[in-house]
Amino acid sequence: TDITTLLLSRIRDVADYPEPGVMFKDITPLLADPAAFTALTDALAEIAGGTGATKIVGLEARGFILGAPVAVRAGVGFIPVRKAGKLPGATLSQAYDLEYGSAEIEVHAEDLTAGDRVLVIDDVLATGGTAEASLQLIRRAGAEVAGLAVLMELGFLGGRARLEPSLAGAPLESLLTI
Ligand code: IMP
Repeated sequence: TDITTLLLSRIRDVADYPEPGVMFKDITPLLADPAAFTALTDALAEIAGGTGATKIVGLEARGFILGAPVAVRAGVGFIPVRKAGKLPGATLSQAYDLEYGSAEIEVHAEDLTAGDRVLVIDDVLATGGTAEASLQLIRRAGAEVAGLAVLMELGFLGGRARLEPSLAGAPLESLLTI
């Protein structure tokens, strides 16, 4: 479709970043193009509406850039999920494994409560480790997972299959699949 072509044309492949052998998908050209950024925001806001989300969670850092305008457009609150040590208030933390070592993400405990339906937004779904940890955080806070929406899914990394248990029937929407 038109929007697929537009979005794809504004994503830049960067070879060997952040390490040799990785083809990094750079969305900064898309952010710099108001027509493309608006189309992306509209598409994600439509998904948010469809899921009945009452809150948007954005994953640091590009999930903030995409998630914040979607929250405004959908008329719901925006909640940042950050890397450990960045949020000043009382937090819930979730550790997860990386290829080498591990990482930890956090959310302000008071930002998510029972009765919330939460849509998680990020730019790229790769192995699914980051998204999986965020879904665990949302459930541990007592809130419901409305779904996960990403600009791009790197299908060959198997994130969708990995996320099946933690999505528990909630939708995974990706606008582009590589
Ligand atoms: P995962 O946890 O392996 O799914 O990695 C997803 C996280 O890494 C997301 O927060 C993405 O922003 C980031 N990421 C992984 N690969 C890329 C890429 O090619 N471009 C941009 N971000 C990426």
